[in-house]
Amino acid sequence: MNFDWSPEQVAFRAELGAFADSVLPEHRAADPRHISSAEGVELSKWFVRELSDRGWLAPHWPQEFGGLDDTWRHIILGEEMWSRGEPRGPQYMNVNWIAPLILLAGTDEQKAQHLPRIRAGDVFWCQGFSEPEAGSDLASLRTRAVRDGDEYVIDGQKIWTSYAHVADFCFLLARTGPAGGRHDGISVFLLPMDRPGIEVREIPALAGEHQFHEVFLTDVRVPASCLLGEEGKGWRLVRQLLTYERVGSPRYAAAALALDELAVWARVNGVLDDPVVLRALGRARASCEVARLLTYRAMDDRAKRLPPGGPAYTARAAMVRAERDVATAAAATLGQSALEEDSIYERQLNSSMTAGVATGTYEVQLNLIARLCLGLPRR
Ligand SMILES: Cc1cc2nc3c(=O)[nH]c(=O)nc-3n(C[C@H](O)[C@H](O)[C@H](O)COP(=O)(O)OP(=O)(O)OC[C@H]3O[C@@H](n4cnc5c(N)ncnc54)[C@H](O)[C@@H]3O)c2cc1C
Repeated sequence: MNFDWSPEQVAFRAELGAFADSVLPEHRAADPRHISSAEGVELSKWFVRELSDRGWLAPHWPQEFGGLDDTWRHIILGEEMWSRGEPRGPQYMNVNWIAPLILLAGTDEQKAQHLPRIRAGDVFWCQGFSEPEAGSDLASLRTRAVRDGDEYVIDGQKIWTSYAHVADFCFLLARTGPAGGRHDGISVFLLPMDRPGIEVREIPALAGEHQFHEVFLTDVRVPASCLLGEEGKGWRLVRQLLTYERVGSPRYAAAALALDELAVWARVNGVLDDPVVLRALGRARASCEVARLLTYRAMDDRAKRLPPGGPAYTARAAMVRAERDVATAAAATLGQSALEEDSIYERQLNSSMTAGVATGTYEVQLNLIARLCLGLPRR
C-alpha cells in the first residue's frame, strides 16, 4: 500500500498553499469564519470565486458539473483551507455536502438552479436540522410541511442554525408524514430564505458572535419544486449528508498546526524536556495522525462510491479526540500562559468543544460505532 501523494498532488497542494498565503494574511482580521459583518460575507464570496476561477473549488464533483471526479484533490483542498482557518466560512458546507446531495437526488431543474451559483461562490446556505426537542434524536423533529396544491406550507422552529443570518437558502428537514413515522415521513426542502414567514434570531454564544440562530417558520409557502428527492424519503439523504459532513472538515489539519506552534513554544521556553509535556505532545501528534489516516480511509470509500458506513463515524470520533488531545497538550505545555486570552489552549479548547457537538455529538458517534461497526446491541 502506498501512502505517498503523487507529484501532481504535491504540486497542487503547494500551488494552493502559495495562493492562500499570498492573499489571506491581509484579510485575516476580518475573521471570515464568523461572517458577522458585510466585509466577512464579501471576503468569503471573493475567496470562493478565486478558487472557482482557478478550477480548484469542487474537484470532487463530476466533470459534467465542472469538477474533476477527484476525491483526493478535495481532501488536499480541505486540509489546506482548514489549516488556514477555513476562509470560505459557510461556503465549505455548500460545496462539500449540500451540492453533492443535490447532485445525488436533485431534479435537472434543481441542479441547474443551484449548482452554478454554488460553484460561482455567490450564494450562502444554512442547514436546518436541529430543533429544540430534536438534536441527537434528529428523527423526532416536528417542523411540518403540508402539501397545498403546487406548494408546501411549512411551520416549525429550528435551532443552532449556523449562518442563518446571511443564508440565501436553507437545507431544511421537515416532517411530511405521520409524527410516529420516525425515519419515514421526513422530507428535505431547498428553502429560499427570503420567503415571508421566516424569522431569524441570533442566540448569543460563548463560541462567538453570530455562531448560532433560531429560525422560526410560520405558514411559509414554497413551491413544491423545492422538495429534494421523494416526499417522505428524506432520511436516506440525511444519512448521506451527515456522512459527507462528518469527514467534510479536516480539523486535524488545523490541530496539527497548533501542535507545531506548541512544540516551538516548548523549545523556546525550555520545557521540551519535561516528560509531562513530551508525553502530551506525543499523544496529541499520534491522535492527529490517527484522525488523518481514518479520514483518508473514509475518503477512499467515497472515491470508490461505496455506501456511507463505519469509516466516517470512526474518522469523526478520531477528529474530536485529536482536537481534545491538542487542547490537553496546550494546557500541559503552556502552564499558566494557557490562561491568557487567545492562547493556543483557549483556541483549541473552544474548537474541541464545538467539534464534539456540531454534526452530532461525540457520544452519539461512539454509540453508532458500537452498534454499526462493532455489532454491539442497542441499549
Ligand atoms: C458549532 C455548532 C454548530 C452547529 N450548527 C448547526 C447547524 O448549522 N444546523 C443544525 O441543524 N444544527 C447545528 N448544530 C446543533 C448540533 O447538531 C446539535 O447541538 C447536536 O446534534 C446535539 O443536539 P442537542 O444540542 O440537542 O443535544 P442533545 O441531543 O440534547 O444532547 C445533550 C447531551 O446528551 C448526550 N446524549 C444525547 N443522546 C445520547 C445517547 N443516545 N447516548 C449517549 N449520550 C447522549 C449528548 O452527547 C450530549 O452530551 C450546531 C452545533 C454546534 C456546537
